[in-house]
Amino acid sequence: MARLETPVARLRLIGAGREASGGRLDPAQLSGYREMQVIAAAAAGLGIADPFFRVHDDIAGAETTIDGRRIANFASYDYLALNGDKRVVEATKAAIDRYGTTVSASRMLAGERAIHGELEAELASIYDAEDALCLVGGHSTNVSLIGMLLGSGDLIVHDALVHNSIIEGAKLSGARRVTFRHLDAEAADKALHDARPRCNKALLVIEGHYSMDGDVPDLAAFVAVARRHRVWLMVDEAHALGVLGRRGLGIAEHAGVDPGEVDIWMGTLSKALVSTGGYIAGSSAFIRYLKHALPGFVFSVGLPPGNAAAALAALRILRSEPDRVTRLNRNAALFARLLREAGLDISGSAGAAIVPLIIGDAIRAARLSQALLRRGINAPPIFYPAVRTARLRFFVTAGHSEAALRETARTVIEEERALG
Ligand code: PMP
Repeated sequence: MARLETPVARLRLIGAGREASGGRLDPAQLSGYREMQVIAAAAAGLGIADPFFRVHDDIAGAETTIDGRRIANFASYDYLALNGDKRVVEATKAAIDRYGTTVSASRMLAGERAIHGELEAELASIYDAEDALCLVGGHSTNVSLIGMLLGSGDLIVHDALVHNSIIEGAKLSGARRVTFRHLDAEAADKALHDARPRCNKALLVIEGHYSMDGDVPDLAAFVAVARRHRVWLMVDEAHALGVLGRRGLGIAEHAGVDPGEVDIWMGTLSKALVSTGGYIAGSSAFIRYLKHALPGFVFSVGLPPGNAAAALAALRILRSEPDRVTRLNRNAALFARLLREAGLDISGSAGAAIVPLIIGDAIRAARLSQALLRRGINAPPIFYPAVRTARLRFFVTAGHSEAALRETARTVIEEERALG
């Protein structure tokens, strides 16, 4: 049987008959489930505790509480240290007091609230775009947008390491999907040169700051490729907004590229903006079209008022306190340097919030994560299918102190060496 890419994909086996029991869903018969159980039993046999679903007891920031123990936290997206910020919390509470916890309908019908427009205007201004649109999930924004924009006869060309949501959207669309070597604009150019002539619409997708490796593409080079082949350029800014550029305005600011050169800006509210949801920014005609045609928007409830208010408050803080971005980048650069100088493999990390520690095999990565947890550091392992080479991923934030970063680096270096 061909290797399936994700647990979700494996669930499709339900339809294969052989896996169904008496016409009823029996998860124990799913090959993906059985595989999971075998891995769990093997890990338990090696004395490795499940590294996932660790329960946090309070606000997870630069520190968190797990099992009643206060520990250093490197696993949360809270890049600007705004989770729990009083101003964000107060704005969220005020929106809930005014509008309630939900808008109870698709925005098109009875779900539109003033706070949606305020947030979208602020998001559009980040990209000097004419307009923006928010959806309830970052992942579903990519799936719905790409799934709807393209169809059979169309083409999507994307970096080999883009997020799962982009791949799922591409599959849903039915368009021809071609990947190119990570960060390689020349390879993208070649892929488009070969495939573009036989396709109708075409989309080139990259991320502003790659979530698993912490590296950054050459935006100007990708803009040039997009223009050369008459394709739309889409950039996923999930880990770039609030992180890249002097003021945290993302990869366009970082690269000194006019944001108008990118056709579709996409991002999430769940990282630096300490909320939940996805956004798209672009021309007013495009956004107007999406408001009437994007399934994940039209057929889904509007962003809850509290989530909209939290993201809006965080965006305003990002604008008024750019020193948070400076602190974040200073912290991440220090942590990356300490690991790299010790000879550890942190891939191509730009030293801007995301610092992976490449380990290679899953068992060693899980062991290292467990050893670090014992020593008061939370950094879960990541392995297949999320990545091919197992690793620990450290999210550094503006909230980490220099002392905590140095102490963590020392401990990580020691424990990595102890792995043998
Ligand atoms: N795009 C990228 C690049 C991501 O890393 C993620 C999630 N980590 C998403 C999209 C999905 O965003 P969300 O978690 O807000 O649904």
